[in-house]
Amino acid sequence: MAQQQEESVPGGPGEHRTTTVENGRFCAARCGCGWRGPARRARSKARADAEGHLAALG
Ligand SMILES: [Zn+2]
Repeated sequence: MAQQQEESVPGGPGEHRTTTVENGRFCAARCGCGWRGPARRARSKARADAEGHLAALG
């Protein structure tokens, strides 16, 4: 099992607050609503995924 370091997500659960989660050499976007983006090698890509998630919400 890979170690997982998660940054604390501000706000209550269910809110659309995105952050990035490092998972080994990869980085994935994550949202307070429970959504999670695919693992990316670059944090900038994970951030882009998070922006796409928020944009998709309208
Ligand atoms: Zn969300």
